[in-house]
Amino acid sequence: MSKKVVIGNWKMNTTIDEAINLVIDLKEGLGDNSTIICVPYTHLGVVQEIVDDRIAVGAQNLCQYENGAYTGEISSQMLQSLGAEFVVIGHSERRTHFNENDETVNAKIKQALLSDIVPIICCGESLNLRQSGEYLPFIEGQIKAALGGVDKKAALDSIIAYEPIWAIGTGETASADQAQEVHAFIRKLLRSLYDEETANHMSIVYGGSVKPSNATELFQQKDIDGALVGGASLNASDFLQIINAL
Ligand code: PEP
Repeated sequence: MSKKVVIGNWKMNTTIDEAINLVIDLKEGLGDNSTIICVPYTHLGVVQEIVDDRIAVGAQNLCQYENGAYTGEISSQMLQSLGAEFVVIGHSERRTHFNENDETVNAKIKQALLSDIVPIICCGESLNLRQSGEYLPFIEGQIKAALGGVDKKAALDSIIAYEPIWAIGTGETASADQAQEVHAFIRKLLRSLYDEETANHMSIVYGGSVKPSNATELFQQKDIDGALVGGASLNASDFLQIINAL
């Protein structure tokens, strides 16, 4: 059965002091629950030192190359050495602002796997594609490209995040039915790319303006295993409410 999980994506937010306070607040309110927080690179070391075993730490990106003359880049080995267990790959903000494409996304996933870091693989359509009705073939293309050359063993523990671009940071959420349609489609695709076991085991989370007010309905859908949360993950109370909803 797929693992249920709420993942925070802090994006390019928080100073180190704000990050520490946020982690303290999360620890205070988490109770028996657990979560994953994907923090800025600069915060990985400090955050890793103050979390407990209820909070796993991840990064938001990594370099597609192993090491060498790539000034300013961060490798999967560097992330691993700081204790990062997860990494967001192919977020639409990276595809839009930093020219990432299906090829770089696939290369980054393979780098993450080489260092035993679980990739959180993002996919999702633009508003134009949604309105044209062509979104399912587009998402199929993104996932096939992302998972090209990734074997079953590696795929099993990977996480897929369906994030319609028109719902990210806009306050507009996909309806529970819209999200469920795509999640069921992705699960079926995983069945055809791998097998029943892989499709049932892989977590498929939804991202796009998830808030305390819409989380419960989304989480009630059969194929929604949790959420990738941007804005609301910066507010401990909101984020904890979303985790509780799961
Ligand atoms: C995200 O950053 O992945 C995201 C879904 O952001 P938000 O929750 O702010 O829409």
